[in-house]
Amino acid sequence: MRQGTKGLAFNEPLIFERSKPGREAFSLPEPDVPVVDPAELLGDRVRGEIDGFPEVSENDVVRHFFRLSTWNYGIDHGMYPLGSCTMKYNPKVNEAVARFPGFTALHPLAPDSLAQGALELMWRLGEALKEITGMAGVSLQPSAGAQGEFTGLRMIRACLEARGDARQSVIIPDSAHGTNPASAVLNGYEVRPLASDARGCLDPAALREAMDESVAAIMLTNPNTLGIFERKIEEVCRIVHERGGLVYMDGANLNALMGKSRPGEFGVDVMHLNLHKTFSTPHGGGGPGSGPVTCTAELEPFLPRPVVVREGEAYRLEHDRPQSIGRVRSFNGNFGINVRAFCYVLAMGPGGLERSTELAVLNANYIRARLAPHFHLEYDAPSLHEVIFDDKLLKETGVTTLDIAKRLMDYGFHPMTVYFPLIVHGAMMIEPTENESRESLDAFCDAMITIAEEARTDPEIVKTAPHTTRIRRLDEVAANRKPVLRWVMGGIEK
Ligand SMILES: *Cc1c(COP(=O)(O)O)cnc(C)c1O
Repeated sequence: MRQGTKGLAFNEPLIFERSKPGREAFSLPEPDVPVVDPAELLGDRVRGEIDGFPEVSENDVVRHFFRLSTWNYGIDHGMYPLGSCTMKYNPKVNEAVARFPGFTALHPLAPDSLAQGALELMWRLGEALKEITGMAGVSLQPSAGAQGEFTGLRMIRACLEARGDARQSVIIPDSAHGTNPASAVLNGYEVRPLASDARGCLDPAALREAMDESVAAIMLTNPNTLGIFERKIEEVCRIVHERGGLVYMDGANLNALMGKSRPGEFGVDVMHLNLHKTFSTPHGGGGPGSGPVTCTAELEPFLPRPVVVREGEAYRLEHDRPQSIGRVRSFNGNFGINVRAFCYVLAMGPGGLERSTELAVLNANYIRARLAPHFHLEYDAPSLHEVIFDDKLLKETGVTTLDIAKRLMDYGFHPMTVYFPLIVHGAMMIEPTENESRESLDAFCDAMITIAEEARTDPEIVKTAPHTTRIRRLDEVAANRKPVLRWVMGGIEK
C-alpha cells in the first residue's frame, strides 16, 4: 500500500512506525532554577523508559491523528442510511450546551445541594421521556439500548418474584432486535421464539398458543425490525397480561412513534429508549450512549436506584428504595448524553418531535416508492421509519446485497444495514431519518437505481466494488477468522 499525506487516498503507518530515535514531541529551554531528580523524591516509583514507546514530534502526532480522523465517515459527511441505527444529525447546539463548565466541571460525587442544576436537568428529561412514552417511572442509568433491555427484564423478574410467581421463559418474536434474546438469557430466562405472520407482524393466535404460565414476558420491538408497526399490539398485550405475564417493548426505534403513539397507552409495562438514536446524541464506535427505561407504576419500585425526585423546588437522589434491582451503572449514567438529549427535546419545542416522526416516516416511504420498481420488498406492509429491500430481483445477475453495499461507497454513501433482519434473506435495511432533504434522498435513490442497472449491464463493476476507496474490498471471511488484533514490534509479541 502506498503511503502519503492525504488520509483518504493513502494508507497511514502506525505511530510506532513513524518513530525516530531521539525525536521528541516538545523541547523547552534549560530551566533557570535548580532541578530536582525525581528519583530523589519518589525512589523506584519513577517510571523509566517505556519499551517501544514512539519517539515522534508534536507535528507528527497531530498530523497522524488528524489524518486518521479523516478516514471516518460520519453523519457530518453525508447521508448515513444505516437501518435500525437512526444515524440522525447531531445538532451542534447540543454539543455547546453539554460543554457548559457547570456540567463538565461538576464532580459526580458532589452532594445533592451542590448539584441542583444537574439533578433538575435529569428530572426534567425523565419527565419528558415519561410523557413521550406514556409511562409512570423512569431511570436514566442504563448506558445503551441493550443495557436498558437488561434493566427492564431484571425489573420484570423482580416484580414477578415479588408477586410470588417467578417464571422461566420470555417469548421473543423473530422480528425483534438481535440484542433482545441476549438480554433475556443474561437474566436467566429461556428464550421462546415466535414466528411472525406473512405480513411481518405478530399473530395473536400464535401468541395465544405460545403463552402459558411459565412465560414471564414477551419482549417485542415496535416498530419491529421490518420497520412495521405492530397493529395488533393492544391485543398482544392483553393476551400476555391475562396469563400473568408482562410486556417489554424495545423502543430503540421510537423515531417512528414519538409524538404519535404512546406505548404506555397500548399496554407496555416497561421499555427502553435510545437517546443516541431518537434524541440525536452522537453514536457509533462503541459509545457513550444512553438507554433510559420507562415503566408503569407497578414496576416503578423496581427501577435501578437512586432515582431523582423533586421535593418542592429542590431535587435529590433517592437511594432508599428497598425493592430496587440496585445499580446498573456507576454514578448517574452518561450524564453528558442526557444533557444533549434534553437540549434536543427543548430545541424541537412543542409539536417538533411529532413533526420529526412524520418526516422520518415520509422520507423512508419516499425511498420505498422510488426504489420499489428496482428492488424486491419481501413484506408489503406499510413502512414506518425504515424500509427493507432485498437482492431477489437481481438474482440472475449474480450481484448480491454485499456487492450493492460496497458499490454504494463508490457513489459516496455509507452503506445501508445489510443481512439484517435475519428473517429477510439478503436484507438491505434503509433508514434515512428526518434530516435528509429531498435532494439527498434523490441522490441516494439515483445511486441505488444506477447500481441496479449496472448489475444488469456490467455486473463485474458491482461485484468488484468499491473502486474509489483507499482500501478495496476486504476478505471478510479472513478478517473474521484470522483477525490481526495486535501490532507486533520487531517480530516479538508485546
Ligand atoms: C440499536 C438497537 C438496540 C441496541 O442498542 P445499543 O445502544 O446499541 O445497545 C436494540 N434494539 C433495537 C431495535 C435497536 O435498533
